[in-house]
Amino acid sequence: MKKILSLFTILFFLLAGCQNNATPTGQTSSKKTVTVTTSFLKDMAKQLAGDLIDTELIIPAGEDPHLYTAKASDLDKLKKADFVFYHGLHFEGKMVEVLEKTGVAVTKDFSKDDLGTFMQDEEEVVDPHFWFNIKLYKLATSTMSEELQKLLPEHKETIQQNTKKYLAQLDELDAWNKEQLSQIPEGSRYLVTPHDAFNYFAKSYNLTVHAPQGISTASEVANAAMIETANLIVDKKIKAIFSESTTNPERMQKLKEAVEAKGGQVTVVTGEGKELFSDSLAPAGEDGDTYIDMYKHNVSLIVKYLK
Ligand SMILES: [Zn+2]
Repeated sequence: MKKILSLFTILFFLLAGCQNNATPTGQTSSKKTVTVTTSFLKDMAKQLAGDLIDTELIIPAGEDPHLYTAKASDLDKLKKADFVFYHGLHFEGKMVEVLEKTGVAVTKDFSKDDLGTFMQDEEEVVDPHFWFNIKLYKLATSTMSEELQKLLPEHKETIQQNTKKYLAQLDELDAWNKEQLSQIPEGSRYLVTPHDAFNYFAKSYNLTVHAPQGISTASEVANAAMIETANLIVDKKIKAIFSESTTNPERMQKLKEAVEAKGGQVTVVTGEGKELFSDSLAPAGEDGDTYIDMYKHNVSLIVKYLK
């Protein structure tokens, strides 16, 4: 009997899956489903298409995309999507193959000259953290906008208007960042973070970044890198070092201990509301749950502790 029941259940869900999504009012929704890999892309799609589409998120806010492996339910989200967007540049390191087959990378139109590269394990790798370069984020936004206009030709004009408005807001954000960060004196413009997510940011706003862990969180923190960073903190009298919402804060505590062992002093900026967002926005409803709010949160925190 159990077997028959579960067969029925499976059949029911299979059939239900063939229908359009039912809305709570019982009407069928004709909205297209857009599946995105990260909280950044979810926000971007919302800015551009608002409620014209249903979005499905694969990597939950707060999780580390470098290390995220796809679950069976994620493959379903990819399968049922009318369109799939992902970052590319090997950011979604463990999902590259399936994403290349099913989706469009918002970074597909980037020129090589715009991208930073690094040596990692004697190999030159592209720095995937492009969203901290607002010029590149605008280009990714335009790429998504073009694809959404093709997907929803009946809403082309609305998407174009939303795009124009959002790109202007990104320009305003850039100007605000410059003005805020100018408060940090010349000798204090050092940003120390757990993993190397802020190189585009540092280049855009004239800071120097140091991260003991390297570009991907998949690499181990080498002892030598830790000692080198501790030396820098002591030498340059860096006042504060930062933790991130997606990596383990204990690493920065260890770095602080290494600094103190050398007779130096440093504050670890950490705890609720005091972590930098690097590879994810905040969960929906919290401070930093949009790209613009996330950027403002980071810049405010950096200015407060380094100026
Ligand atoms: Zn990262």
